[in-house]
Amino acid sequence: MNEPSDDVVLGVPDDDISARWERRAEIDLSAIRHNVRRVAELAAPAQVMAVVKANAYGHGMLPVARVALESGASWLGVAHVGEALELRAAGITAPVLAWLHTPETDFAAAIDANIDLGASGWELEQVAEAARAAEHPARVHLKIDTGLGRNGASAENWQSVLDTAAHFQDDGLLRVVGVWTHLAVADEPDRPETDEQLDAFRTAIEAAEAAGFDLELRHAANTPAALSRPDAHFDLVRLGLGMYGLSPFRDQTSEDLSLRPAMRLMARIANAKRVPADHGVSYGLTYRTEGTTTLALVPLGYADGVPRVSVEGPVEVAGTRYVSCGRVAMDQFVVDLGDVPADGVVGEPAVLFGDGGPSADEWAEAAGTINYEIVTRIGNRVARTYVEGSWGEAGD
Ligand SMILES: *Cc1c(COP(=O)(O)O)cnc(C)c1O
Repeated sequence: MNEPSDDVVLGVPDDDISARWERRAEIDLSAIRHNVRRVAELAAPAQVMAVVKANAYGHGMLPVARVALESGASWLGVAHVGEALELRAAGITAPVLAWLHTPETDFAAAIDANIDLGASGWELEQVAEAARAAEHPARVHLKIDTGLGRNGASAENWQSVLDTAAHFQDDGLLRVVGVWTHLAVADEPDRPETDEQLDAFRTAIEAAEAAGFDLELRHAANTPAALSRPDAHFDLVRLGLGMYGLSPFRDQTSEDLSLRPAMRLMARIANAKRVPADHGVSYGLTYRTEGTTTLALVPLGYADGVPRVSVEGPVEVAGTRYVSCGRVAMDQFVVDLGDVPADGVVGEPAVLFGDGGPSADEWAEAAGTINYEIVTRIGNRVARTYVEGSWGEAGD
């Protein structure tokens, strides 16, 4: 459907195509729209929370948040209160949940800004105190640890957390509006632990209801559960990776899931030259050319989020697929183009991943990591450019 375009930038005026760029992460907002719509349809009647933590997994928090809210998401989710406050400072008024706190977290600012707070137990006293000062009750989503072993109250402590929360709620300091949990192995649908976690979650919900809380939202699903476990949808799914068009499953691609990767990472070739056989490449000289060949230099390195441990990371130049050779350095890495002339190579766009090129999944494979980490770690030296491709249009 979306044919790779000759244009460097899809769907933007010609003026901008000639705009000068050296490194860019193109973010296709139409892909994000498509992905949110797709998951919203799948999850309905459950709502969608667009998870925009970590600068929207490297895609840019504010543009992604706005597009997600236009496309069927009704909530935003972030890890830190600081991230939630950035959303509010930008004028975004949609419901926001922040869930990862420390005793230094500014709960008062969160309550003032009408940000919902995830809580495992220890936070409740501080939240209640902040609410007393703010003269405004906090909205709290109590988290139960059903097996992940990170945040959330243990099953043993759940009743006591409910009792504490009920006490503060009776004092008018907070309202428990949600109960939630997080899944550990939803990306491996065959594993039995998800069933066990969901059983424990249902038990925790019953206890919260028995404690008298009038719950608006029960939520458990991340992207893999949103896509593979309808029984985990409850009232809301927390959608991160899938919104960016990437697959959380080892054996399924974005395309298999009808998702559209939203980020395309590119840089212009910074140098190209012919070298003889047995020429070493990059620190440690871990790569040597086999024969006379053309080496091309890509001005992206580990400071920009290209993992130093990558081996044979894929790169597309002028429609041909190559791989990185030698070590990735802080600012650059080399591609062996083989027996092609070096003339005209400098300045050519090299596409590391994204529409019409290799995938973030392939870079994850090359670096022994997951696609989440590849997109999220793209650094600040890479300009994000927002484009409107053709995804999400009629017939899509
Ligand atoms: C990051 C995060 C998510 C989103 O997970 P994806 O797999 O990217 O959809 C959901 N819930 C919590 C608690 C998270 O920290």
